[in-house]
Amino acid sequence: MNEIQRLLQQNSDWAQQIKAEDPAFFESLAAQQAPKYLWIGCSDSRVPANQLLGLLPGDIFVHRNIANLVVHTDLNCMSVIQYAVDVLKVKHIIVTGHYGCGGIKTALENSSHGLIDYWLRNIKDTYQKHQARFDPDMSQEQRVDYLCELNVMEQVANVCHTSIVQNAWQRGQALTVHGIVYSIKDGLLKDLNVAVSSAEQLDHIYQIDHSC
Ligand code: ZN
Repeated sequence: MNEIQRLLQQNSDWAQQIKAEDPAFFESLAAQQAPKYLWIGCSDSRVPANQLLGLLPGDIFVHRNIANLVVHTDLNCMSVIQYAVDVLKVKHIIVTGHYGCGGIKTALENSSHGLIDYWLRNIKDTYQKHQARFDPDMSQEQRVDYLCELNVMEQVANVCHTSIVQNAWQRGQALTVHGIVYSIKDGLLKDLNVAVSSAEQLDHIYQIDHSC
């Protein structure tokens, strides 16, 4: 059995197991999806949204990219947020970073890796903005982990600064944007307590004035 055949076999076993527990599971999911959450996380293979939250297919809408960035010129991420907010009407957007993130680690170095340099540049900007908050006595690992947290906070703000999210608040849609960090070492999530649920919580310059 080759590697792909093995994956297909595992898939077949998994589907059978789900059906054994709930014979109508796939039929009801095929009819519609109504997830309450949008997860924006890292592509890292060790941070799978559904598994670490103990959620089944249908429970969470997911967007993943390297270092869980929300870049306003990224049509992919913006389309996911728009669909999740406007059509699925998710109640929570959860930006999830993870300690020891390879993207963050690389952004703190000065090496060049081709195309991805443009992507990681966004993280360098966050580092530069908050540079004064880094204690000079921090180890490199501590610096990486601290920047993982700051990066999540920055992306929470980026989600909130979109017209998609602010228009939803304007029309009275309940929507909260959260920032959390996952520890690969113990499998636990840490809430950074930076949740935003209204435009009034944003810096004034980013607030959209819907009257003009
Ligand atoms: Zn990562």
